Amino acid sequence: MKKLKLYNSLTNTLEDFIPIDAGNVRLYSCGPTVYASPHIGNARPLVVFDILYRVLGRLYDNCVTYARNITDVDDKINARAKLENISIGELTTAVTAEFHKNLKLLNVLPVTHEPRATDHINEMLSLIDALMVNGFAYESEGHVLFRVKKMAQYGMLSKRSVDDMIAGSRVEVAVYKEDPMDFVLWKPSKDGDPAWDSKYGPGRPGWHIECSAMSHKYLGKQFDIHTGGQDLMFPHHENELAQNFGAFGCIMANYWIHNGMLLVDNQKMSKSLGNIISLDDILKKYDGEAIRYVLLSTHYQKTLNWTNQSVTHALQALDRLYGALANTCAPNTCHDASVQTDFSVLDALCANLNTPLALKYLHDLADKIYKSSDADEIDRLGCLLRQEAGILGLLQKNPDAWFRNNSAELDENKIQQLINEREKAKKEKNFSLADEIRAKLLENNVKIEDTRDGAVWKLLRNH
Ligand SMILES: [Zn+2]
Repeated sequence: MKKLKLYNSLTNTLEDFIPIDAGNVRLYSCGPTVYASPHIGNARPLVVFDILYRVLGRLYDNCVTYARNITDVDDKINARAKLENISIGELTTAVTAEFHKNLKLLNVLPVTHEPRATDHINEMLSLIDALMVNGFAYESEGHVLFRVKKMAQYGMLSKRSVDDMIAGSRVEVAVYKEDPMDFVLWKPSKDGDPAWDSKYGPGRPGWHIECSAMSHKYLGKQFDIHTGGQDLMFPHHENELAQNFGAFGCIMANYWIHNGMLLVDNQKMSKSLGNIISLDDILKKYDGEAIRYVLLSTHYQKTLNWTNQSVTHALQALDRLYGALANTCAPNTCHDASVQTDFSVLDALCANLNTPLALKYLHDLADKIYKSSDADEIDRLGCLLRQEAGILGLLQKNPDAWFRNNSAELDENKIQQLINEREKAKKEKNFSLADEIRAKLLENNVKIEDTRDGAVWKLLRNH
């Protein structure tokens, strides 16, 4: 069996992955807070850890349990529901439905369990009870707090000392806390916000407790892999780990895998910069396969820099790969390409999910197809290419359908359509969209010139 190597943030080393139980490999991912469409940066872990799920499925005969939660109790949810004058339930149901639709477009496989926080309040309260009994939690003014100083190992994941954390002051100082580092497990609800009865008084859970309670329910006290974005390592993951340690006396997960951040034009996405790309919006404009390709084109631990060329490059790359499949058999008639190869997509992915290397391997196969004039060999390599790409969740469409709908190549109709969209964007003063369209056209050797009679275009040669 191939050996999977993963970079473990808990030990800061590249390790051989050894599951607790090879008959049931257990994986947890922190899921979305369903108040609005996630941005493209939030889509990165969804795709990256989908790859991990697929790899584990191959290596362990599909004996994998994958849980990813839905956070449906949160201040942002309350605020948005109020703003839109709809109930919290209506908002979270609608956003969750949209989220599922987008996952499908990205070809992200459904997880085994997708627990919602509001369905697990009792489990959270039981966990809080266990922390109280063990002396890791205390009550104060309607709150229940985690007593950080009780845990000598606190900071073991993010490698920070408690003093550094206080100095960094990402902690809320409050009179009801024994220590500024202590974090909320249960808190009173504000007027009109959802509240649940408990022996600690009516209120709602803190954010961190839900992941500990739900992973415990579906994966056990200690499981194999915990994943999430690097930005969640502290305080969220550190606090999840602390809660499990306090309640059960063990380390929550043996491997902690974190993906790097996604920047847009080398800047962090923010409201003030107006550069937030929502997943909903981008998937309305482009095929999910192209977005998936972009997200896999940078190694998951590295920062991914999104530019307005990213999707165009992915479309071009997919054109090339689908082009190689064009003269081979169709997806449903593909036969098992059981050929001995020195290297495969699975080898690349077993090397700490090296997706760029896996994509390069697909392009090498495509090269061989383009160079070959032997119909049998083209057929065989085509099946191999499709089969290998399947592990990455790519190239499963019919090439004709791909070229009809998505090709980066522009015909006259498409060019005119884009020019019209650009004119409309300019009228609506949406200059970033107008610039993006101009850049997309230029990338395809189409130059627009604005004249008194409107925009005209010409093809550039030798661009
Ligand atoms: Zn979490």
